[in-house]
Amino acid sequence: MSNLHPLLLRQLRRTFGSVDAIPPGLEALFTKVSDTYQQFDQDRRLTEHVLDVSSRELTTVNATLQAQNYRNEALLSRLRQTVSLLHPEQPAAPGQDLLNIAGDIERLVAGRQATEDALRIAKEAADSANRAKSDFLANMSHEIRTPLNAVVGMTNLLLDTDLDPDQREYAEIIRENDEALLEIINDILDFSKIEAGHLDLEAIPCNFSEVVEQVLDVFSERALKTGLDLGVAFSADVPACIVTDPTRLRQILINLVGNGLKFTRAGGVGIFVQASRLAEGIRIDFSIEDTGIGIPPDRLNRLFKAFSQVDTSTTRKYGGTGLGLAITGRLVELLGGAINVSSREGVGTTFKFHIMTQAYDLAELPSSAPLVDLAGRRILVVDDSPINLRILEHQLGGWGINADLVSSPADAFAAYSSNPPYDLLILDYNMPGMNGAQLACALHHAHPNNFPPAILLSSRGQQPDEAGALITRRLPKPVKPTELRSVLVSALKAGSLRVGKPPAPSQSMGNDPGFALRHPLRILIAEDVAANRKVIKLYLSRLGYHPDAVENGRQALGAIAAEHYDVILMDLQMPELDGPGATRMIRSQPGGLRHPYIIALTANVLNEHRAAAAAAGMQDYLTKPLRPEALLAALRSAHTWIVENPRPEPPAGTTAQR
Ligand code: ADP
Repeated sequence: MSNLHPLLLRQLRRTFGSVDAIPPGLEALFTKVSDTYQQFDQDRRLTEHVLDVSSRELTTVNATLQAQNYRNEALLSRLRQTVSLLHPEQPAAPGQDLLNIAGDIERLVAGRQATEDALRIAKEAADSANRAKSDFLANMSHEIRTPLNAVVGMTNLLLDTDLDPDQREYAEIIRENDEALLEIINDILDFSKIEAGHLDLEAIPCNFSEVVEQVLDVFSERALKTGLDLGVAFSADVPACIVTDPTRLRQILINLVGNGLKFTRAGGVGIFVQASRLAEGIRIDFSIEDTGIGIPPDRLNRLFKAFSQVDTSTTRKYGGTGLGLAITGRLVELLGGAINVSSREGVGTTFKFHIMTQAYDLAELPSSAPLVDLAGRRILVVDDSPINLRILEHQLGGWGINADLVSSPADAFAAYSSNPPYDLLILDYNMPGMNGAQLACALHHAHPNNFPPAILLSSRGQQPDEAGALITRRLPKPVKPTELRSVLVSALKAGSLRVGKPPAPSQSMGNDPGFALRHPLRILIAEDVAANRKVIKLYLSRLGYHPDAVENGRQALGAIAAEHYDVILMDLQMPELDGPGATRMIRSQPGGLRHPYIIALTANVLNEHRAAAAAAGMQDYLTKPLRPEALLAALRSAHTWIVENPRPEPPAGTTAQR
């Protein structure tokens, strides 16, 4: 019995004292009981094992579920964010469950798609309306330019005739107003072109100082009339030649300088130019400073918006469309820069802007100014205008000249007596008390053995003055830095007294009867507006030509079938058969592929019209109102082309005569 279950053995010993005392009849029973105990033990171990395993599994499952829960929380919060982005007015409530939110999102995405579709359709409609607007503006400007062309042309012709003073004054008023009207039309057209993305910028190498100095030419007469000072100063680092769109750069400067002069009563306008070389190109900084009425601080931030003017009353003192600065700002951006303004009422306004350009290889410039060392020269400048003094100080400083600058003849005497001798004098003519010529005489009188070359700055042209030969050169104002530089160089080189030669009288542009002899051409004019025909005929007859004229493309075809013409000045818009249509027909005729040379004439200045004219086979393009100098240039090019590309023998049966 000793192999019974240990627990049963212990119980039997406690009951019977020893296993041997168990009554023999019970042995079989206890063996059975022992089996049951064994079985029970086995079951218990099994159960414990099972419990152990499932508890470990449960922990793992629990951890998995917890991780899943975190992920769901994160997903839920992202979904909520999405809902609030898609639908800011009704963000998902924190308690909302995943399925609901997913449904919301689906609806919102569908709604969003519908909104986007509606927006796209609205944008397409707006774009097409904008295109229609800009086309309308271009057409309008064409419609206005056509009669204006006749008015400008006739007024110019009228002004060249013998008029009594009253008649001349009336005609001049008409011309001034024509110009103002043209400016407005150009502004509107430019603005609509920029808005419609039609404005194509050029990138051509140009003589930088020339581009800027041409702005002085535009305003010299106005500055003279209003008694305002005007000038430009370049710092030493400004490159001679840059790659940019010179026309648009000039337009920016003309606008800012024009505004400066318009809103200034006393003092003037200075243009200061600096350059810096960066990795991405050359940055050129301009500062246009005036001493005018200024702009109230609360108006400054609206200046570059279209149609905004500081004074919006109907009784405005100054004209303008309020488009100038909007166009200027966009052009500056198109040239890779930015513009800003600062101003103090009653003190003046400064517009600063920069453009990004590339330098052009100097070696390719036809001729650059001779580089003669001006550095270290001693110059005395006498000018009562603070802005002129500042401009001269900057400009002379840029050339390394340390000038003494004084603002009155009395100060000039003091400087002259207390300093070692000067190499050169720069004297302004118009000064209160004593003019520059009188000052030269007085200084010469006081120091007869010590009088250097003197340059007189004046708006009086070459009119005689008191100083006679004491003045080495008389320079007209506004003074151009390149001109001043070459005068300084030659005056300092010579170091002796010389009187400047007056410039040769220039021939009035467009009145040169010998031109046709030098550039012989048979010319046909095709233009439907009688007044325009007359203006063009008159311009051409002053150059010595005897042009024929027809009224539309169909008549032009008839004329060239009967006569030989070298050049056709062809209006683009004509009844019956327009310019491009007539040109296409001419170009499809035998021998007509390149002859005659056809110059398009139009009051439309959009690039696509130019492109359409070229596509039809026209070789050149002139815009109306016709400018005599543009006509001259076009005829010169036509003549050169014809000489280089002679016409093949005309087919039998046609007359060819010059
Ligand atoms: P506008 O063709 O009317 O001159 P602009 O866009 O060129 O249009 O200028 C807008 C307005 O900004 C002007 O009407 C003027 O009130 C103000 N302004 C521009 N330049 C100056 C300046 N240099 N001094 C004072 N005011 C200026």
